[in-house]
Amino acid sequence: MKFNDKNMALKYKKYNENLEQVVEKLHQELGVNSIPVNLEIVTEKLGIRVKTAPSEEFSGLLLRKNDTAMIGVNNEESQVRQRFTIAHELGHFFLHKTKDTFVDYRDNKINNSSEFVRTDAEKQANMFAATFLMPKGYLISDIKKMAKLEISELEIGKLAKKYDVSRDAMNYRILNLGLSKGI
Ligand SMILES: [Zn+2]
Repeated sequence: MKFNDKNMALKYKKYNENLEQVVEKLHQELGVNSIPVNLEIVTEKLGIRVKTAPSEEFSGLLLRKNDTAMIGVNNEESQVRQRFTIAHELGHFFLHKTKDTFVDYRDNKINNSSEFVRTDAEKQANMFAATFLMPKGYLISDIKKMAKLEISELEIGKLAKKYDVSRDAMNYRILNLGLSKGI
């Protein structure tokens, strides 16, 4: 059991490291060189149409056709949530090429979403979204500028605003990168 756990942890760490590199390369190719990441330009460059509509059930969806795709976003959710959804669907677009249709349920639909979020593909798409919207290099540089050992709630809020993401997403990303202490 322990051996397996260790392998899993290693695999997970390697995946995280690879994801940072994958996103960095994508950002270069797509010309992303400022914060907040401009998803309109990104999707336009990729030829992906983004359509918004209100929904009780869904946060977003991705419909792939040949080399391009359409992303649907629930515009009843907050702006930062919509951005995260678009980036999440881009994660499916780049990482999960063997499947053509992805439907992501809203968080409040517990019956559906809890089942769904547990799958590796969903976790990967969420990690992709976080990495895509909060690039490691930019974040490290911003946090270094603060020159503090611990990042306060206020600073998390400021960073969230700068990157145009939710406070929760920013907090999680900082913890995940191990940046909450020691920089
Ligand atoms: Zn998804």
